[in-house]
Amino acid sequence: MAKQEDQFKKVVSHAKEYGFVFQSSEIYDGLGAVYDYAQNGVELKKNIREYWWKAMVQLNENIVGIDSAIFMHPTVWKASGHVDAFNDPLIDNKDSKKRYRADVLIEDYVAKLDAKIEKEVKKAAKRFGDSFNKNEFITTNARVISYKEKGEAILKRMGKSLENEDLADVKALIEELEIVCPVSGSKNWTDVKQFNLMFGTKLGASADSAMDLYLRPETAQGIFVNFLNVQKTGRMKIPFGIAQTGKAFRNEIVARQFIFRMREFEQMEMQFFVRPGTQKEWYEKWKETRLKWHLSLGMGEENYRFHNHDKLAHYADAAADIEFKFPFGFKELEGIHSRTDFDLSSHEKFSGKKIKYFDTELNEHYTPYVVETSIGLDRMFLAVFSNALQEETLENGTTRTVLKLPSVLAPVKAAILPLVKKDGLPEIAKNIVSNLKWEFNVAYDEKDAVGRRYRRQDAVGTPFCITVDHDTLKDNTVTIRYRDSMEQKRVKIEELQSVIKKEISHKKWLMRM
Ligand code: ATP
Repeated sequence: MAKQEDQFKKVVSHAKEYGFVFQSSEIYDGLGAVYDYAQNGVELKKNIREYWWKAMVQLNENIVGIDSAIFMHPTVWKASGHVDAFNDPLIDNKDSKKRYRADVLIEDYVAKLDAKIEKEVKKAAKRFGDSFNKNEFITTNARVISYKEKGEAILKRMGKSLENEDLADVKALIEELEIVCPVSGSKNWTDVKQFNLMFGTKLGASADSAMDLYLRPETAQGIFVNFLNVQKTGRMKIPFGIAQTGKAFRNEIVARQFIFRMREFEQMEMQFFVRPGTQKEWYEKWKETRLKWHLSLGMGEENYRFHNHDKLAHYADAAADIEFKFPFGFKELEGIHSRTDFDLSSHEKFSGKKIKYFDTELNEHYTPYVVETSIGLDRMFLAVFSNALQEETLENGTTRTVLKLPSVLAPVKAAILPLVKKDGLPEIAKNIVSNLKWEFNVAYDEKDAVGRRYRRQDAVGTPFCITVDHDTLKDNTVTIRYRDSMEQKRVKIEELQSVIKKEISHKKWLMRM
């Protein structure tokens, strides 16, 4: 645990020190769970968004994008169920006065059981050596089975109680499991209450005519209310999808895991409209496709897992999360939800406008079913960033901090470094920058010894350093140094563009999907 916490602290301080993420309004001591992206962070975030958009919109003939407004008619949130049901169950500890999400306290308890299982597996792997069969072990070892069954039973009971709004049972479960407040260590809990997560605001100048609005808590509804507009103007045929990225706002009760849970964050969502009855098939397909997208970034297959939901939201007939191994354990990174025809039917009812699709093949009108994929851009940022941050001990015994970002996502693709600040080397280096900057985000650095400049670039994840030296004057070649292997090669200046492009192109990375 302590090691995990240390790693997480390193992630947070590295993000600040190297210009990725700052606390919002820091000079006023910050604002809870609100963050600003800095000069490098904004590039990384933009590159992640682009990587998603390319895979989702540009590479799929039957998916188009939109950008709907954050403000929407207030009835949208009645129809979507957010006014009545977008709640989190909260519980207070009477001694520490700290507030928690009751479901998260229980999930954390189950995560501890999972950690115990992992420990047993590690111990057994050590004991059995090469002959160890993990699968066999976890399906036959009595202790592991009992942890697993206990965890499953707890989550099932919690799911049922939340679904039935039986908050007394959620509290009873917390008491039975003897969960203590991490701050006070006491079991002195209040009752569990529901808390709506939407931020309200007002539209209009005068108090009497002002209209109560909400800041959107998800981007999905902007897609549902535009379903017919896009379908008709784009002459879209089912199955087809509508994608968008944009800000969402939630008044999160517990928001203390850096950019994992923010009150203002960005989502990347895609709603895929299908024939009723085919949603299961599409749900499975999108689960698979989205996992492949994640794996294409090469961040380690072992760092992902699916979590199928027992507790379903009011609109869903199936739901799963893709969980990622963050520095604080496996947590939701993306949700894939089979949303049935709930949203479109509900908007039809509340707006009084017909929202049906005419299927020319079936010669029939129907309300399409929807499978959605929904990922938090900031959460993806944290996944990529925390996975990339590494400390390496080099052959000569020194250490380096390196951000091994997938090069397609790196904020700066190449740094151009004149070996010395004289003999015409800076001029050549600046000339290279002038050429490459049309294609890539590049940096120029002439300060300090070249080794220190390499380290600076390693720390922000720049995949290539290009050094101009005295040989360049003779043969027009430069040294290209690769961030991860630290290997150095000599290449011709005119080849630089194609060498870099080959490594960082969307095609190279997305073809792995
Ligand atoms: P959680 O259970 O963590 O609160 P959720 O199930 O409410 O998440 P969804 O409503 O399914 O989340 O939202 C889709 C995605 O949006 C999530 O998988 C996550 O990546 C992202 N997301 C949701 N809430 C936040 C938040 N407060 N801060 C950052 N990202 C978020």
